[in-house]
Order: sequence, then structure tokens, then C-alpha cells
Amino acid sequence: MCASPHQEGAHGRKSRWMAGTSVMPHGEMKRPLIEGGGGGGASRHLEASMSDADCPVVGILGTGDFSRSLARRLVASGYQVVVGSRTPKRSVALFPEEAEVTSQMEAANQADVVFVAVYPEHYSTLVELRQALAGKILVDVSNGMHVKQEGPSHAQQLAEQFPESCVVKGFNTVSAWTLQTGARDGSRQVLLCSDSSKAKSLVMQLCRSMGFISVDMGPLSASVEVENLPLYLFPSWRVPIIATLALFLFFYLYNFTRDVLHPFVKSGKSVFYKMPIDTVNVTLPSVSLVLLALVYMPGVYAAFLQLMWGTKYNRFSDWLDRWLTRRKQLGLCSFLCALLHAIYSLCLPMRKSARYDIYAAAKKGGPETEWNDEKVWRMELYVSVGIMALGLLSLLAVASLPSVSNNLNWREFSFIQSRLGYSALIMATLHTLIFGWNRAFVADQYRFLLPPTFMLVLVLPCVVLLGRLALTVPCVAQRLRRIRRGWEKGRHIRFTLPGDQSLEDITNV
Ligand code: NAP
Repeated sequence: MCASPHQEGAHGRKSRWMAGTSVMPHGEMKRPLIEGGGGGGASRHLEASMSDADCPVVGILGTGDFSRSLARRLVASGYQVVVGSRTPKRSVALFPEEAEVTSQMEAANQADVVFVAVYPEHYSTLVELRQALAGKILVDVSNGMHVKQEGPSHAQQLAEQFPESCVVKGFNTVSAWTLQTGARDGSRQVLLCSDSSKAKSLVMQLCRSMGFISVDMGPLSASVEVENLPLYLFPSWRVPIIATLALFLFFYLYNFTRDVLHPFVKSGKSVFYKMPIDTVNVTLPSVSLVLLALVYMPGVYAAFLQLMWGTKYNRFSDWLDRWLTRRKQLGLCSFLCALLHAIYSLCLPMRKSARYDIYAAAKKGGPETEWNDEKVWRMELYVSVGIMALGLLSLLAVASLPSVSNNLNWREFSFIQSRLGYSALIMATLHTLIFGWNRAFVADQYRFLLPPTFMLVLVLPCVVLLGRLALTVPCVAQRLRRIRRGWEKGRHIRFTLPGDQSLEDITNV
């Protein structure tokens, strides 16, 4: 709860500030801005801060890393800065000379806006500043140690301790390093929330003049989430990474069993040297293709659900919702595996074992050393299609970068992610089919009765591609298109879509 705007008298220095905000002489900017100690003494209220919005006196409590970086940034942006410390003499040398380092009480008295740059466990030591901070804006920059599911947040606790001040939560997502380098590097976003819109807009103004972009997160209750944000460890990547690792483990063990264990068990042949490169290299494309199929599978499934329901207004289950929102991460994991596969493949001839194989084959002679048109064509096609697939995947990966996707309109984005994405899936599937060639019909490929890996890998991509093909059948596509425009099976409203013949609306599945 914020203090009444007229609770307290105006500060003695206020008139100087009011005059100074419109045109501030250059000399004035350079002069040590805070003269004497705590001139007016009495706390100013929020109205005063708002009227001084262009150049409020900014206080910082604490002299740690965050405080020092913030002070530098504020001074560079032309603000008067007064830092409150328990031991001002010890800390003064750490701050730019334009900033005044004084006692906590003096800083609280002088400042209009006060950044609380101390750890939350020490907030209780600040209670004696309550009077001095009444009616002022307190910015809570603290971060927690653990993700909290519910409040109170540190900012809410601070607001409880200082009921007569206006608490704004913010800057906790910005590191001391980002503050020092300015907004040139690092994240430029500062998330802010407060129950006082006036206080929030003043802090927003402060953000902007420091070169940051402020994002209004709503009331102070949002501070629980704002405090959690720096603590999350790749939340949207967890499932895609687990899926990638699980698939890698599965296919690696499968390939190991077939290609390394089988020759050892059946004929005592030790090919364990294949484990670091060969086995990894046949595992990576398998993972990549399955992940790519998983990118497009939920879209196709969602389209079929909508066709079955005859409406788009039924909610998808939570798992499908989450799957749909993780497609970008799955796609990037797929790209990473494909890229690694390409690098491993290029390095294959460098290995000693590969050279020995060539010498041995040449020495032995026989069909392996003779020109075989079928094998030559197969390899040429296999490599060419693989390069195409990797090229398309690279394009998708680049287009998913926010700086690139922000410059694409919806049609361009969906063209790249859908049409080119499906083209990549087709190319990667062809790459695998050409690799398999006739191996599915060769008996000795079924080692330990396990089918060749490519047969397992092809299941999901084929299902997705066939599903997608089914959605392009004109009557199905048209029905889906109507549903996506709001038509519902149960409601008998007839309408015709403009350009009904176009199938474009289903491309985004
Ligand atoms: P720090 O380097 O440890 O500084 C904390 C400061 O708090 C001390 O220098 C001390 O200054 C002051 N303080 C006041 N009362 C205290 C007490 N009773 N006991 C101990 N210290 C007391 O910490 P920091 O990295 O600047 O972080 C400060 C706040 O900013 C934390 O809440 C943190 O979560 C937040 N934050 C930090 C960063 C970052 O990159 N560092 C980023 C975002 C948010 P005096 O001795 O001069 O009084």
C-alpha cells in the first residue's frame, strides 16, 4: 500500500529540482550534485517524485556488486546518485566520484527513488529507515535462492515492512555486469511490477533513460514469478533435451548391440573401436530424424483432432499444448544432431581404421574393389539428399532466431517453418531410405532378430508425412480450413470462405 501523495511536506531541494528538470545547465550536471548531508531531511512523497520524474535523486542502499554497477549506470545516464552504506568511508573509493556515498539514513532522506541492493535476509536491518522512506519509491532488486510456487515474494515482504513506501519489483533479471556494460550487451529487458502505477511509470522512465526496455508485469503479486525468472534452468528446453538424450541412449544401445556386440558374440570379432565414432555416427541421424518427425507430429495430430471434433474451440490436452510449444526446441535439437552427423561423416576417412579397411579390401581384391554402378549411384544420391536436408534444417534454425523471425511476417514465417520444414523432413526421410536401400530384405541384417535401425527410424517420419498428405486431400483440407476460420459441426451456420479453393490455411500444421 502506498502513502498518500500529500502525506508529507515537499523537500527543501525540490524547487531546485523542479527548475532544473526543464533545462539543466551542463555545469550543474558536472558539479557534485548532492551538497551537504541530507539538506531537507524530511522524506518526499510520490507526487514530488513524479514531478521530478525527469531527474529524481536516486538512492541505493548497499555498496555491493549490484550497487556499484547501478551507480555507474545511473551516473552515466545523468542522475544524481546517493549511496547508503553501513560503512560509507570504507566503500567510497569503489564508486564514481559523482556519486555520494553516505550513511543509509542520509541516503534515504535525500533520495526520491531508492534501490534496495541488499540481500533480502538483511531487510530487517533497514527498519529504522521506515520514516525516512515513507512515501518514496523502493525498488526491490533481489533474487531468491529457490523457485517459489507461491508468495510472499521478497518484494511483498519489503512492502510489508515499509507500508508507507511504494515498492516496485524490478532489475533482478539484469546482472551487475549488464548494468556496467550498459544496454549494449546482455538482455535489455527490465521486468517491473508494482501496485502503484505512478511509481511503476517513474521507474520505467528511469529504465528507459538508462537504455533498457521496461516490461510492465502488472501488480506486485507478479513479483513471485519475476523473482523466479532468473532461477529457471532452461525451462522450455528440459523436455526436448530429455527426449534427445533418451533417443540417443536408445539408438546407441540398439546400434551397439547390432554392430558391435553381435560380431563379438557370434564370431568373436572385436570391433569395440567402433563405439566412439561409427556407432555415434549412425545414432545421430536416427535421433535427428525422429526429433524432426516429433516437430511436425503434434501439428498433424492436432489437425486430425479438430477434424474429428468439428471445431477448433475444444481445448487440447495439456501434454499436447506443451508439445506444440516445444517444437522449436525439438527442431533445434534435431538440427544439432544432423550437424554433428555431418561433421562425424566428414571425419570418417581420417580414421586409421578406415585406412586399414581400404588397404585390406585392396589387398584382398574381389567385388568390393570393383566399380559398381548401383552402389555408386546410391552413395551419390544418399550424400546429395543428406546435404539438402542439412541445408534446409540450417535455414529453419536460422529462421527461429528471434532477431530473424521478428523480421518475417506471419506468411513468411509459416512458409519457412512449415513448407521448408516438411521439405527437410522429406529430404531426411529420403536420405534414410536411400541408406537402407534393399537392406530390409537381406536376412543377415536382422542381427539378434533385431531389424536394421533405419527401419525403426522411418516409422514416425512416414506416419507424419502420410498424415500430412491426407490433410492435403481437397475435401479434408477444405473442412479443416473452415474449422480454423471458426466453423463448427454442431452449429449449422453456412458460410463460404473467400478463395475457398486455396489450401494455404492448413500449411501451418
Ligand atoms: P553484495 O555484493 O553482497 O552486496 C550486498 C550489500 O548489502 C553489501 O555490500 C552491504 O553494503 C549491504 N548490506 C546492508 N545491510 C547489510 C547487512 N545487514 N549485512 C550484510 N550486508 C548488508 O550483493 P550484490 O551482488 O550487490 O546483490 C545485492 C542485491 O542485488 C541482492 O538482493 C541480489 O539478489 C540483487 N541482485 C544482484 C545481482 C548481481 O549481479 N550481483 C543481479 C540482480 C540482482 P554496506 O556494507 O555498504 O552496507
